[in-house]
Amino acid sequence: MNFKDLSLEEIIAKIKSGETSQKEVWDYFANRIKKYDEKVQAYNFVNENGFIEADINSPLAWVSVWVKDIFCEKWIPTTCASKMLENFVPPYDSTVIKNLKTAGMNSLGKLNMDEFAMGSTSESSAFRKTKNPWGINRIPGGSSGGSAAAVAAGLAPASLGTDTGGSIRQPASMCGIVGFKPSYGRNSRFWVMAMASSLDCPGTFTKTVKDAGLLYDIMNWYDEKEDTSIEGKQTINPSIWDKKDLKWYKIGLPKEYMEEWLDEGVRKVILESVEKMKELWAEIVDISLPMTKYAIATYYILMPAEVSTNLARYDGIRYGHNSTLPHENLEEVYQNNRWEWFGDEAQRRIILGSYVLSAWFYDAYYKKASQVRTLIREDFDKAFTQVDAIISPVSPNVAWKIGEKIDDPLKMYLSDAYTIPASLAGLPGISVPAGFAISEDAEKEELPVWLHILTPQFEEERLLEIAHVFETSTPYSKISPKWFED
Ligand code: GLN
Repeated sequence: MNFKDLSLEEIIAKIKSGETSQKEVWDYFANRIKKYDEKVQAYNFVNENGFIEADINSPLAWVSVWVKDIFCEKWIPTTCASKMLENFVPPYDSTVIKNLKTAGMNSLGKLNMDEFAMGSTSESSAFRKTKNPWGINRIPGGSSGGSAAAVAAGLAPASLGTDTGGSIRQPASMCGIVGFKPSYGRNSRFWVMAMASSLDCPGTFTKTVKDAGLLYDIMNWYDEKEDTSIEGKQTINPSIWDKKDLKWYKIGLPKEYMEEWLDEGVRKVILESVEKMKELWAEIVDISLPMTKYAIATYYILMPAEVSTNLARYDGIRYGHNSTLPHENLEEVYQNNRWEWFGDEAQRRIILGSYVLSAWFYDAYYKKASQVRTLIREDFDKAFTQVDAIISPVSPNVAWKIGEKIDDPLKMYLSDAYTIPASLAGLPGISVPAGFAISEDAEKEELPVWLHILTPQFEEERLLEIAHVFETSTPYSKISPKWFED
């Protein structure tokens, strides 16, 4: 049986009806990984002997969900794609994994990413460069590039990722699958390696919006071990999946997100999506989010500040490698380890973060950026008094070629301009199929362009409803990359 184009929901239904078995599904994906992962390079670790036969009445019927290498998983190597954590094997599960396992998740492996989730291309992994299944010389996006590429290439039915400034929504768009980041605090961060704690959000990559809802229903839960966890649990009302139109919804298109530096092909797809939404009876409203232009600068002060404190715990002594460079004292041991085992991007952000937090510059940078963050949040609050949801491009460009922006970090940072504002405001966001555009380089490859939808904080149900109506009104979620057909 062929499972690669089936949604999680469809695979689970086939297991429950007896049409297939848990083992057949497991073997199918394990074999596809053997066959194709050499090309895609999505996996950091494959747990070949991990299959567990279990109660098929559990919600996930023991179907495998693959996991970004940032989630601690009991007795499974968890590296954050960093030499600093090579060989680290946690003795515990992160809360979201625990929730999924209780609901019947089998886990087959760990997926590649940018080192400590810093990047937009997955090129900063210390171990491998994951490829985009739509164009094998292209980046899959990042930082959760392995998670996105694995689902897009049919090597996994669904996967987990984290989104700090766009790391679920952007790679989902580049690889042509659904990427869902709930509101900050909905999915627990407990034992998910921290990048920037006030921004990190665990979420999912799936083939359909409905699958995103299925996993979200299981993952989101109040976690007493985590002090930013949201009280209670949200259960998605299944009636939202029956909606066929967007009647009564006012949807905002921010003018700041459609400005000149957007690729023409991307702009065209977004404008077509606007027309589609009108056909679905939504009212499209032009809105303004004037603080958008400060979002990247704000993020690149607050995020590195948090990175520098979160990564201070890695000294190379308890796990990872110990440097063999000569040293005179303990401080030099730390220095050598951190210099040798953190990659360039991690070191750049640690230095930047330490600088903006230093006593002399704290007011000028960190404090000011925190104030601007409040203004960005207020921008959204104001917009949401006018509209129920906001749409925009996910990224100004389609997937670019591996190596193209690696020597120019600023260029890479700018590509997150549309995802970062919602992260700073803690909003839920999703990337959904919207169309394809031809790359502006010599290769002229046809690549996915997905639509970014945002709703107010904690309005995940509304977000999933709108996303599902839109997704099922276009043919794009049914198209998969040609190279992995059989
Ligand atoms: N690309 C952004 C960065 O490099 C976002 C990363 C993320 O969301 N983890 O910071």
